[in-house]
Amino acid sequence: PIHLSTFFESLFEFMLPHAREKQIQMKMDVPDELFIEGDEDKLRQIFTNLLSNAVNYTQEGGRVQLSVDEVLSEEHGERVILTVKDSGIGIPKKDLPRIFERFYRVDKARSRGSGGTGLGLSIVKHLVELHSGTIKVDSEPGLGSSFVIELPMLQEG
Ligand code: ATP
Ligand code: MG
Repeated sequence: PIHLSTFFESLFEFMLPHAREKQIQMKMDVPDELFIEGDEDKLRQIFTNLLSNAVNYTQEGGRVQLSVDEVLSEEHGERVILTVKDSGIGIPKKDLPRIFERFYRVDKARSRGSGGTGLGLSIVKHLVELHSGTIKVDSEPGLGSSFVIELPMLQEG
């Protein structure tokens, strides 16, 4: 099992130089004794992508927050909700349905500086689904975005 607070502390350490360059404040709120079953490399890829997007698409002096909550549903059993929230440029409503497509980028001009390919979120979605999870996005242009991932705490079988 993966100890989430240890996992995210080391991931944050890896992200900090990038955030510091842009004077972006990174915070996390992860319960202390929370473990989940899963593939640590896949989880690392998921959250490296989401956190670097959050930093890339947030202006200098902004904020990025990761939070983790535990929920118990009658239908699905124990689940973990992981949210990556930023105070960045946001995503227009018309683009939201397409951002998980391969190579889709909202605006070539504004994302040119970040040198990406537009593959990150399609990989994230694929990995979340391999984990029997779901991903949703909510965003307000000019205010920020939040990506919400729900994963089972225990794997089947
Ligand atoms: P890369 O392949 O390097 O990740 P990318 O970041 O452009 O390139 P995705 O991560 O798939 O590709 O994101 C797709 C597009 O969605 C981005 O180009 C950007 O326009 C938009 N986007 C993703 N995350 C955010 C965010 N947190 N805030 C605003 N826009 C975002
Ligand atoms: Mg990306």
